[in-house]
Amino acid sequence: MGKGLLILLSGPSGVGKGTVRKQVFNDMSLNLAYSISMTTRKPRNKEVDGVDYFFVSEEEFIDKLNNGELLEHACFVGNYYGTPKAYVEELREQGKNVFLEIEVEGAKQVLSKYKDDDKVVSIFLLPPSLEELEKRIRGRRSEEEHIIQERLGKAKREIDLKGNYQYSVLNDNIYRASEEIQQIIRNHLK
Ligand code: 5GP
Repeated sequence: MGKGLLILLSGPSGVGKGTVRKQVFNDMSLNLAYSISMTTRKPRNKEVDGVDYFFVSEEEFIDKLNNGELLEHACFVGNYYGTPKAYVEELREQGKNVFLEIEVEGAKQVLSKYKDDDKVVSIFLLPPSLEELEKRIRGRRSEEEHIIQERLGKAKREIDLKGNYQYSVLNDNIYRASEEIQQIIRNHLK
């Protein structure tokens, strides 16, 4: 069996990457594996350590980073996020198609590291509008106003970078967007 795909999904905070990703994963025939990131952010309500993220202290994060254990990393609105490298490579070697849900700076690092890897698929998820995005970010009710403002500002700057990705998918409807992403992946599996 050949090496698996490395699929990157980016998109502004609140666009619904997590929800779309879960729907995409319902197609078992795609043989997907989710790369669980490491973060120094505190868990939100229903988030589980080792499922949604590996929640770590800043010291632990910097240790891993200095040991070269991260494939990419970024600071996002005051917290560190990074992708553990060994896990991704191991899964790809097993033929799994590994799915990374990361922000634009990290994606840029991955795209430049793997520029000769024709099994990399990069997708940017777009919100129907900025108004809709603000509504979704506020709907979480888990963050203070200045954090919401920062996430919104960052979202606008992120959308400007969609040209770095092979595909842009509009999240006008979770099911439609997920199907489009599944089809993109199928095309790359041929
Ligand atoms: P949140 O705090 O909303 O879970 O995530 C904030 C942003 O960080 C989102 O755009 C999310 O996709 C991104 N992110 C999550 N994990 C990683 C990672 O390992 N690396 C990078 N670069 N971004 C990540």
